[in-house]
Amino acid sequence: MNIKLNDNFNNIKETYLFSDIAKKVNAYKEANPEASVIRMGIGDVTLPLPKPCVDALISASNEMGIKETFRGYPPEYGYDFLRDAISGHYTKLGVDIASSEVFVSDGAKSDLGNLPDILGDNPIIIPDPVYPVYVDSNLMSGRKITLVSGNEANGFLPEPPKDYNGASAIIYICSPNNPTGAVYTAEGLKAWVDFALATGSLIIFDSAYEAFISEDLPHTIYEIEGAKSCAIEVSSFSKFAGFTGTRCGWTIVPEELESNGVKLSKFWARRQATKFNGVSYPVQRAAEASLSEEGLKALSSNIEYYKHNAMLMADLFRSKGIYFTGGKNSPYIWLKCPGNMGGWEFFDYMLTRFGIVGTPGEGFGEAGNGFFRLTAFNSLENTEEAIRRLGDL
Ligand code: PLP
Repeated sequence: MNIKLNDNFNNIKETYLFSDIAKKVNAYKEANPEASVIRMGIGDVTLPLPKPCVDALISASNEMGIKETFRGYPPEYGYDFLRDAISGHYTKLGVDIASSEVFVSDGAKSDLGNLPDILGDNPIIIPDPVYPVYVDSNLMSGRKITLVSGNEANGFLPEPPKDYNGASAIIYICSPNNPTGAVYTAEGLKAWVDFALATGSLIIFDSAYEAFISEDLPHTIYEIEGAKSCAIEVSSFSKFAGFTGTRCGWTIVPEELESNGVKLSKFWARRQATKFNGVSYPVQRAAEASLSEEGLKALSSNIEYYKHNAMLMADLFRSKGIYFTGGKNSPYIWLKCPGNMGGWEFFDYMLTRFGIVGTPGEGFGEAGNGFFRLTAFNSLENTEEAIRRLGDL
């Protein structure tokens, strides 16, 4: 073949993180067939869908089998019933989002990866460490990225760059953060909103873990004054209601968002109408059910379960004097590898000494070197067993 490929793909780091982890774990299990291994590296939910969601899936699927209630292509931006329910969710958070500003998707990852379609060649600012999709999707379209480092001094909540040249940029913020579990306060977010407004920049705010917040911290960027003029918010039913395998999310593009007189919502609507054919009717009904009173009750008991696991781990590391972020308002614990170990060295130590699998921090960016992510998505029993084993850490 002699076609031109998108050479930008050569600039994306091959990440063998999860396959390297699987290889190491398999080799360990082969050498130690008796060993019981507890996997705390997964970022996927493990509890089943809340019952109101399953009921809605079944009843909507039944409707699809009856001539009178069968539905074909769904609307590209989502059914009104779900856009209204998501708008209602924001009302409960004290924020005014019109249904027409809600774009239903098959998950946050697709929207985060697709948003560069409507954006030109702007500088990109991304905190490090963070969910790798922001960096990779921008590298794929040949963008130049500036990383702002999280570290112990800023509690893994980097502030806007002080010596910035003022160019309008695209800024990614994830709060609560994956992998660090760190959550911006209203003041911390306001600094980014003020920076975006001052430089004519756009914030892409990822609130996928919003439901894990229990303290008085912002659940949505729109709690910050001025954010509707500078921020798109991308969110998901994945961690909120256990939809990682069911697939549904949403993106808010406020009407106020304009660049040089062009509405961003117009471009996003055009992009979605051209390249996306919507989310299936039963899945949208299930998503709607998750936002009902019964659905919210059921899903918050799942979230409390994970948060209890996170709290147990946080107590352990606190008692050992090990620096960590997260563990509260998040399913993630991000800890500093003891004894100045590197992430992979600590991975081997955790596996061979305690039979516990986590994720080395370098998998989430350079600033993750020497750190390690554990997740609260395992069962309570396994989490308690892991904590018992780590008594000797
Ligand atoms: N955003 C963050 C920060 C995530 O960690 C994840 C998944 O782990 C996603 C988005 C993806 O969400 P979805 O399942 O809706 O694609």
